[in-house]
Amino acid sequence: MKTVPEYFGCMVFDDRVMKKTLSADVYASLKKTIDEEATLDIGVANAVAEAMKEWAVSNGATHFTHWFQPLTGITAEKHDSFISPSPDGGVIMEFSGKELIKGEPDASSFPSGGLRTTFEARGYTAWDPTSYAYIKGSTLYIPTAFCSYGGYALDKKTPLLRSMEALNKQALRVLRLFGNDTSKCVRPSVGPEQEYFLITREMFDARPDLKFTGRTLFGAKPPKGQEMDDHYFGAIKPAVASFMGELNEELWKLGIMAKTEHNEVAPAQHELAPIYRTTNVATDHNQITMEVMQRVAEKHGLVCLLHEKPFEGVNGSGKHNNWSISTDEGQNLLSPGETPHENAQFLLFLCAVIKAVDDYQDLLRISVATAGNDHRLGANEAPPAVISMFLGDELGAILESIENDAPYRGTGKTQMRLGVDVLPKFNRDTTDRNRTSPFAFTGNKFEFRMLGSSNSIACANIMLNSAVAESLKIYADELEGADDFSTALHDLIKKTIKEHKKIIFNGNGYDDAWIKEATEVRGLKNYPTTVDCMPHILDKKNVDMLTSHKVFTIEELRSRCDIMLDNYCKTVTIEAGTMVNMAKTMIAPAVEKFAADMAKNANAKRALNAEIPCDYEIKLVGKLSSLTDMISLVADELQSELEEIRRTDGIIAESTEIRDRILPKMAELRSACDEAEKITAKSYWPMPTYADILFSVK
Ligand code: ADP
Ligand code: MG
Repeated sequence: MKTVPEYFGCMVFDDRVMKKTLSADVYASLKKTIDEEATLDIGVANAVAEAMKEWAVSNGATHFTHWFQPLTGITAEKHDSFISPSPDGGVIMEFSGKELIKGEPDASSFPSGGLRTTFEARGYTAWDPTSYAYIKGSTLYIPTAFCSYGGYALDKKTPLLRSMEALNKQALRVLRLFGNDTSKCVRPSVGPEQEYFLITREMFDARPDLKFTGRTLFGAKPPKGQEMDDHYFGAIKPAVASFMGELNEELWKLGIMAKTEHNEVAPAQHELAPIYRTTNVATDHNQITMEVMQRVAEKHGLVCLLHEKPFEGVNGSGKHNNWSISTDEGQNLLSPGETPHENAQFLLFLCAVIKAVDDYQDLLRISVATAGNDHRLGANEAPPAVISMFLGDELGAILESIENDAPYRGTGKTQMRLGVDVLPKFNRDTTDRNRTSPFAFTGNKFEFRMLGSSNSIACANIMLNSAVAESLKIYADELEGADDFSTALHDLIKKTIKEHKKIIFNGNGYDDAWIKEATEVRGLKNYPTTVDCMPHILDKKNVDMLTSHKVFTIEELRSRCDIMLDNYCKTVTIEAGTMVNMAKTMIAPAVEKFAADMAKNANAKRALNAEIPCDYEIKLVGKLSSLTDMISLVADELQSELEEIRRTDGIIAESTEIRDRILPKMAELRSACDEAEKITAKSYWPMPTYADILFSVK
């Protein structure tokens, strides 16, 4: 049996394979393209394509695909075989540089939000050499960006790469001011912690709501949920352990550094965290991880649920985006340093993040907005929809002393002057692990905790990179023009703290009092739903920032706003339709059958002896009948609301109607059905209950 280091990355055309299979010249040019974004000439592309194909074919591949991330939220692929006819009637395996670099999938069935006019039905995919190609099954997967012919981004990778470039440019300007003239580039890195549920296939198949919408739309609270806190970090069950074992192996073969896995808070909930990578690679890897999780679960007779809120009243699943920025020389710019000089630089980068999060609270909220995640944010298990930052006591005290020109505790009477020698060496504050903050500093990185489990991490990182690039740009503009660097730096940091300290909150983010303080006293933004926040992507300040860094064009922003809201409407509409269907064809008939049988029993007893009171049956039949009446009435109302809303004009109006009219009706229908579940004999209930599902895996 091979050891992990022997098979790690065996399905990836990575640096090791490139070195082995490419000539020194070709390797050097490709490296230059990867590291410095130099353009690739076709000669080099041909040589790389040939080596890639040889390697892929020798590893069992027969096809290749340009793999991309359209705005549907999942990844897309179109497979072509390598075969090409040879004169003798046979075939040879061929793959050209042109095929590697560019593909032309039919773009017309992917959402474009109006970006693709009919004469431009086709889009193109462009190879992203910074993310390695890999083999899955018998296909070589080539990570690509996806654009319309007019050059508009139709995917998530293109703006992510643009945002990384913006951050790189501005961060380098700042580093140069600190005398660093050796770093060639600055890149953001991400380690996304992925939460998920595992249930048995049998349970999944018996629930149309899970099948059609990924979450349960009905289900009374089980007698035992997560109250005992006995699942978190608990012993892993055999079926789960064998799933995790195979998952790790599959991910490792694909060069994905799956590192930690454990049980989460809710029963049947688990987490996987990889070792952090460059944002672009981490994003591709997270997409692959989600796919592999679902595929491996299938093989084990399980289903992996990636929905943000599969079960009401039970913790939902998120994705923690651990984010840092570092130079190509390996310096983490968010890590407190050893010297006052390093610490001044660290504080400036820290301030850039503080300013970015405060100035672009709305964009961060927008970046995690989906119908599914709306159920999770603010549900006392995940951060609220209000963005705030946690810095910890140590850093908090340092910032406070800078702001007030006051002595920092532990430094005697000295004041905190930046850029001169008195700035102390401070310890990393890792003791206080605030788990309720949406955006927490964890010693040398920030953990953005609002992402939903099924979200692509691209969106959050696009906004984060861009907003921080903007802060750094403003800082660089100011500092480059300063007469005295130290004074200007000190003033800049002080000003940032004064203006943006309202975003810093070290307390309990789940507390209602906090939401009140955040919105009423501090004036922070609170957008509880996708419909509330999404239109703000088009606010002038957001458009100005994102277009000035060339991350999005205004057309791209408009199209994204439309697509995200359209997605919201479709998601909720499908859920509502599924509910109506289940209520009418499964739940109401089952409850009715139980009530009818009860009535029959009572009649039978009375036929024996007219004196038998039959209180139990009579009361129950009464309750069940009023519930079935209610279920049928509300299901009808929901259905007609759905039909009416279909005629609403404009996506903002439609999504608002859906939020205000459909969601409350769905809640009403659910509550009647869940009531019925509680008093209907288990043998009559037409589907597995929460207790059945959550404790199904052995
Ligand atoms: P914790 O368990 O305290 O949240 P871990 O050290 O387990 O933190 O890391 C959680 C995630 O953060 C992992 O994916 C890890 O690779 C990632 N991570 C660690 N250091 C960094 C960093 N400097 N930048 C980005 N991500 C990081
Ligand atoms: Mg964490």
